[in-house]
Amino acid sequence: MNEGLFAPAGGVLRGEVLIGGRWYDKPERLESRDPATGELLGTVPLCNREDVALAVAEARRAAPGWAGMPVRGRLDLLEVLARLLHREGDALASLVTYENGKPLQESLAVDLQGALDLLAGLVRGAGPRLRPQRVRTSSPLLWGKSHRLHRVPLGVVGVISPWNLPLAIPVGQIALALAAGNTVVFKPSELAPLVAAKLSTLIQRAGLPAGVFNLVTGDRDTGAFLVESGVDGLLFTGSTSTGRKILAALAGRLTRTQMELGGKDAFLVLPDAPFERTVNGAVWNGCFGSGQVCSSSERYYVHRSLYPRFVEAVTERVARLKVGSGFDPETQVGPMISEAQRDKVHRQVQEAVAGGARVLCGGGPLSGPGFFFAPTVLVDVPPGCNLMREETFGPVLPLAPYDDLDQAVALCNDSPYGLSASVWTADLHAGEALARRLEVGSVWVNDASYTHGQASCPWGGVKASGVGRTHWTGALDELTTLRLVGMDRGRAARELWWFPYGKDGLELARAFRELLWERGLGRVGPAARVAVRLFRVRSAS
Ligand code: NAD
Repeated sequence: MNEGLFAPAGGVLRGEVLIGGRWYDKPERLESRDPATGELLGTVPLCNREDVALAVAEARRAAPGWAGMPVRGRLDLLEVLARLLHREGDALASLVTYENGKPLQESLAVDLQGALDLLAGLVRGAGPRLRPQRVRTSSPLLWGKSHRLHRVPLGVVGVISPWNLPLAIPVGQIALALAAGNTVVFKPSELAPLVAAKLSTLIQRAGLPAGVFNLVTGDRDTGAFLVESGVDGLLFTGSTSTGRKILAALAGRLTRTQMELGGKDAFLVLPDAPFERTVNGAVWNGCFGSGQVCSSSERYYVHRSLYPRFVEAVTERVARLKVGSGFDPETQVGPMISEAQRDKVHRQVQEAVAGGARVLCGGGPLSGPGFFFAPTVLVDVPPGCNLMREETFGPVLPLAPYDDLDQAVALCNDSPYGLSASVWTADLHAGEALARRLEVGSVWVNDASYTHGQASCPWGGVKASGVGRTHWTGALDELTTLRLVGMDRGRAARELWWFPYGKDGLELARAFRELLWERGLGRVGPAARVAVRLFRVRSAS
């Protein structure tokens, strides 16, 4: 069988891995289960160190050919991929909902659409960014020379992804790495391997040469093998604790890395916030994806003048959210990805309650099959507890009042994380002024999370939320290295700083220093121009 993902008799999907342009099966398997029911959806190969090494070797073999292809040719293939994603969008989005549990509308409007938006922006915008750039030098002593910067691919790039946006995140990073001229080895999350297998069939169908894109499925060990495999670049998205382990494993290797890690995003409500929009935004950005989104709002700071009304409105709306199967069009909140994730969130809520927090709605797991957690609102949460300090990957909204803006800014910035934040106010100038004071990678005013996938908008954080910026065309700079090419027309026989050295040379060097300084730093006067010209003419004779 050579399709990458297929359902044998009985309906359980069977995924394969793609290495060097060929699909491989393996007896060692990893299971993927529907988080809404716990039922087995399919299995994929559990790749070991040798499988990963083979994939990296194939990617390395394919690298020179891919790097040598004109940028337009690479982007044309990514456009074909975009068309395939578009055409197969419904099937892909359904698979996301099966494997991840999120409502189908989210699979379509957030995950798939984010992937398509990024591809559209990349196919249009990557060309100018990757083209050789002419640069001007400042010294007249370099007269007669020209300089160009070439963007050179890194080589083989590993992409390690999480499960929460199983299309938008890997598609964006794989496409960026490929556009930059790198070949790719992709290790998806063990909790989203079937989506990855299906996505990989489309990437192969787009017509990439063998070995340019490779898929290895597996668990965290498979990821660790990829980290240790000697790849030239690594794009990692996942938890801060895994990011730290990877950086430790890479220490000494000088691998170019981007780390997109966890967040603890603040939602800051000013007294003049547009009330209805702010309440709706608060509920959505706390609960979409069952709160399992890196840029979910996880701490709500509300001006005291609005606080009682805001608490009441948010609680009423969160309590009404429909929780259930992602395939029910009315569902707003699906299951959590796993029992372990659900228990972790539950422990954080219980710890907060033990410290004095009050649960206004929800508060724990829902009974029945699947890993559902009731959307939860809390107040009076002790600021030092994990629910306010550590990432909470669940539909949980802790609300707290503040009295003045300085206090609000201090609360927002008092976090080990710094991914993003949102500010809600009728005064956009005030919103932007406040944005300058927040220690995060993105600030949205009167909206949240929506720039992910826009190729003109960088994505990434500061502090424990990561290193580097991704999901935008600027990431092409980080996925390439620069080669400076300096050229001299070859007319002068020597330069001021060349041999022979001697008394004359010393005097000349001093004279030029004075001449070039004649009008101050970097301002070159006519005398200096004439002197340089004469020097070079004389050197030419
Ligand atoms: P995770 O760290 O458990 O796993 C992420 C990936 O890393 C998986 O593919 C996993 O198999 C692999 N992995 C685990 N241990 C590894 C190791 N030692 N070496 C190499 N690879 C290893 O994260 P998760 O639970 O899949 O995802 C949720 C986390 O991702 C949250 O913290 C969330 O905030 C973060 N996230 C961040 C962003 C962002 O853009 N900043 C986006 C989405 C998710």
